[in-house]
Amino acid sequence: MAYKAPRGTVDILPAQSGKWQELEQLLRTICANYNVKEIRTPIFEHTELFNRAVGDTTDVVSKEMYTFEDRKGRSMTLRPEGTAGIARAYVENKLYGMPEKLQKVYYMGPMFRYERPQNGRQREFHQFGVEMLGVESPYVDVECMLMAVTVVKALGLKNIQLHINTLGDQESRDAYREALQNHFQPVLNELCHDCQVRYEKNPLRILDCKVDKNHPMMKTAPKTIDYLTDNAKAHFEKVCALLDDLEIDYVVDPNLVRGLDYYSHTVFEIISDDPKLGAGSTVGGGGRYNGLVEELGGPQTPGVGFAFGMERLMIALGDDHKDEEGLDVYIMPLGSEAKDLAMQIMTMLRANGFTCDMDQCDRGLKGQFKSADRFHAHFSMIIGDEEVQKEVVNMKCNHTKEQVEVPLENIVEFIENHYEGDHDHE
Ligand code: AMP
Repeated sequence: MAYKAPRGTVDILPAQSGKWQELEQLLRTICANYNVKEIRTPIFEHTELFNRAVGDTTDVVSKEMYTFEDRKGRSMTLRPEGTAGIARAYVENKLYGMPEKLQKVYYMGPMFRYERPQNGRQREFHQFGVEMLGVESPYVDVECMLMAVTVVKALGLKNIQLHINTLGDQESRDAYREALQNHFQPVLNELCHDCQVRYEKNPLRILDCKVDKNHPMMKTAPKTIDYLTDNAKAHFEKVCALLDDLEIDYVVDPNLVRGLDYYSHTVFEIISDDPKLGAGSTVGGGGRYNGLVEELGGPQTPGVGFAFGMERLMIALGDDHKDEEGLDVYIMPLGSEAKDLAMQIMTMLRANGFTCDMDQCDRGLKGQFKSADRFHAHFSMIIGDEEVQKEVVNMKCNHTKEQVEVPLENIVEFIENHYEGDHDHE
């Protein structure tokens, strides 16, 4: 039987991993720039964590989780998103007690959702995300948004829009929830089955429905902004004022509610019309979640964060990424004695920090030169019987095409001198 990767998963092959590393490096550089440190949490957690944190009524929890029993019958789930595990780690490791009250962390790695695979949707996909925990301030909301905007700009994405909205605090949400129920009550039987359940449990999520999104009552739905408490309103107004001051363009989108239960106050999404992604694609989004840490048994702790789908960032990065660094030396032995010597030289060069490889297929010169070319080798080192006898190697610089005989004991010195005179090499 021929094995296939499970539906909705993909192999990242050596030809693509260089571009992934480039993306990861770019994201790590931006994180360092923002003083955000990496956190790594488990790929699976107790199922209860996601039920609690993400919410039973969300699609992610009710339909999309990869849940299994371990050998002791405990229910485990492959993480469908990153925030819940980080909030759990924050509580468990008492990060709220750290001298720095604002803990800024980032993560990148695989997430798992049982969705119908289609263009841009996988069952195993990758997210890059940032969480800022410990301080309830519109300045931190804006720092988060700035970082998200910096990422898409650094990738060269065009026509990006920052959409923002506020869900307010608990009191605002309660008032808004009632207004939404009153609004949709007369047309309840025209909505999909899921929305009828949402109507009772979490009417906010009706606005997020993909099935009913064109229902006429969607457009006339009440807006969160009209149900805010003074406090929530002041928070949102400050967010907008800060974005204005920093000259960051944004659109207030009253129907933006985000899929997960834990959000409060500011929510945002980055939407791109870049032709590479297709019009109106959401590249990532996030928001504030002031109740989450407390919900998981920690002290009352505000938080704000965002997540990007890395597959989408990869598309945004395009195909014109720079080729990976070539090898310093490709060794081309001709004959078995030459091969023994090649192995010794290769080991010595690697120990000296040079990137190096050799032919292991006993090919003729032509085939070996092709490999040197494919690996973008700076030098081809040719070793035949004659070179073995004379205790020398033949060094061909593939840039200048110069070829010189170099005594074995001078190889390292020769390469170093050559690089010193060649400022293009770095
Ligand atoms: P969410 O956690 O649902 O807000 O998703 C954040 C981002 O992750 C989305 O904007 C997408 O870019 C990406 N994403 C979510 N689900 C998938 C999936 N099944 N496949 C690929 N990317 C995804």
